[in-house]
Amino acid sequence: MRRKIIAANWKMNLNYNDAIYLSRQIFNNLNSIDTPNIIISPPYIYLSELVELFSKIDNIKLAAQNCSKSKKGAFTGEISSQMLASINVDYVILGHSERRLGFNETNIDIKNKIDLCLENKLKVIFCCGESLELREKGLHFKLIETQIKESLLHLSKNNLQNIIIAYEPIWAIGTGMTATKDQAQEMHKFIRDIIKSEYGQDTSEQVSIIYGGSCKPSNSRELFLQKDIDGGLIGGASLNADDFFDIIKSIKCI
Ligand code: PEP
Repeated sequence: MRRKIIAANWKMNLNYNDAIYLSRQIFNNLNSIDTPNIIISPPYIYLSELVELFSKIDNIKLAAQNCSKSKKGAFTGEISSQMLASINVDYVILGHSERRLGFNETNIDIKNKIDLCLENKLKVIFCCGESLELREKGLHFKLIETQIKESLLHLSKNNLQNIIIAYEPIWAIGTGMTATKDQAQEMHKFIRDIIKSEYGQDTSEQVSIIYGGSCKPSNSRELFLQKDIDGGLIGGASLNADDFFDIIKSIKCI
């Protein structure tokens, strides 16, 4: 059975006190209840402390928002996958459009980062998504297929189990414009079909494919009800505890 997942991407938000305050709200609210799988992705510098805090709750894991494409060495300012593994981080978000566009990350860079993460026993949230321009030209399926082919399809069946795929249309990220449930379901099914044709039906049914892009309490339930949508990657709405809990509740009651 596919896992239901809600992941929070805090991006470059929250100073230390605010990050700890929000983390404690999450800890206190989710401590005693049966939650879906939750992944929290704070800025790097809070990871150690939050790994420790959330180690007391089985269903909450920590993710880094990126890692270096190099193993180690003279790369000032970079953080390696090995370092993340050494502080017991579980996941790394890779291929986010903000990194593809703002830091010129290519599909091959992302592939290399995925391989380094898997070598270090880190799991990956792999993001893919098209611009509005490509969607309007009808090229969105081709783009997603290329992103997946060039970064993921070299993986073995076993390694694919360590990947969560996040479909995040760029035009919906942080814009308040969400993909409709039909647009999202159509793309999630397309992605699952790529996995199916490469790895077979059973594997495709085990991969969690989550949606990201202005997901909020008012639209999360109808998105999560779709057959191929296994949860969400939540940006802005994950910075507000009440909104984040409401999104979690909307998947819990499905
Ligand atoms: C994201 O950047 O991963 C994201 C989904 O952001 P938002 O929810 O703010 O659109």
